[in-house]
Amino acid sequence: MALELESPPLQAPASKHLHLLRRMSQFGFLLLLILAPMLGLFRIDILTGAFVIGQYQIWFSDFAIVFGAWFLFAGVLVLSYSWLGSVFCGWACPQGLLSELGTGWMHRLLGRKAELSADGASVEVARRKQKRGNWVLLGFAFVATSMLLALIPVLYFYPPLVVWHFVTFQRDIAMPLSMYWIYFVFCMVILLDIAFIRHLMCQNFCIYRIWQHSFKTKETMRIGYDTLRSDECVKCGYCASACAVDLDPKHTEVYSGCTACGECIVACDRLHEGKGEAGLLSFMFPSADESPDHMASMAGRFRGVLPFLLIGALMLGFGISTYSPYEVSVGNIGARHTGMSDYVVHLSNKRYRATDIRISVQGLKQHQFRLDKSDVHFDSAGMVNVGLHLNAKTIAHGMHRVVVHLESADGWREDFPVQYYRVGDMT
Ligand code: SF4
Ligand code: SF4
Repeated sequence: MALELESPPLQAPASKHLHLLRRMSQFGFLLLLILAPMLGLFRIDILTGAFVIGQYQIWFSDFAIVFGAWFLFAGVLVLSYSWLGSVFCGWACPQGLLSELGTGWMHRLLGRKAELSADGASVEVARRKQKRGNWVLLGFAFVATSMLLALIPVLYFYPPLVVWHFVTFQRDIAMPLSMYWIYFVFCMVILLDIAFIRHLMCQNFCIYRIWQHSFKTKETMRIGYDTLRSDECVKCGYCASACAVDLDPKHTEVYSGCTACGECIVACDRLHEGKGEAGLLSFMFPSADESPDHMASMAGRFRGVLPFLLIGALMLGFGISTYSPYEVSVGNIGARHTGMSDYVVHLSNKRYRATDIRISVQGLKQHQFRLDKSDVHFDSAGMVNVGLHLNAKTIAHGMHRVVVHLESADGWREDFPVQYYRVGDMT
């Protein structure tokens, strides 16, 4: 049902800069996506599968950090969905921006009626735009955009310098073959999207949109329509033609695909600009108009999400304060016929900086074991395996508590206990 407004005052259009603001928000978000890995704020280490924040790797085993951050992030998002609806789609989502750019270029080069359709109908090209050059230009714009944007996900998996060498065709031994594949796959996906899918994805397949819908309520922001002036709409439909997701903005529902882009408001305001009047459409919070309860209901929603925010903040605080930049485990790899019992010390440095770690073994005498090396040097983050061999022949029968002690140059210490059972006589 359309949200009806009570005779709003006639006034000059307020949405003059809405389109520009939205574009700035969309490109700003895209810039953020580019800068986040370049400035080292967030990326993914493809070898360990860890998140990288600043100089630190965050593993899934850093449970409190991963889930604490997720609770906090999800809490804020849920608040935004229930308050502002799918505003992310219209104001930030790169898929939305890409779709709008693709449609804009198509209109400019092939005419206003050139649209993608879900039923596979062919594109209607204006007669005066029916030139091969226009198709070539459009194809070039799609391919160039895909090649450029496909570099963004690559930046999340490889260091910026390696990506720069990739772009400038320079040799780099740190450039693996997988990088070409990742880049190629993203190029193809983006090209397919901008050329053939665009908003059809938002309307039909986007899981994130469905997730957002599940938090909307009848008080979520929607497009308000002044029904008292509805006679002005006869033979118009300008707002509907401005809507990228094919809605009638005069009748948006709570669970419609409206992305809160505001382009319908801009279109209607523009139509009424000459008369110095506001258009018939505006962003509205339904209950703000219908009952003074609106703020109370917002506070209620905030109270509902608050426990998640608090749990998230506590978990995150706990995770950060107990974060260990090193991980160690010791595994038994069996006994050799030589009378040795073999273990491996798996040692990981989770920080992207050089460090030295000393390993020692307690609970056994010097001649009862052999460590492949007792000093480990890391140039940066990484993993090293060190062999530990127990000489069973020199160890008495029974249970022994062996402790692998590790100590880093920066003051970190850890004891990893191993229960070693020496079976009967060995020859
Ligand atoms: S653009 Fe404005 S006047 Fe035209 S149909 Fe839409 S709401 Fe009515
Ligand atoms: S109804 Fe208006 S605000 Fe919603 S998606 Fe369409 S143009 Fe954007």
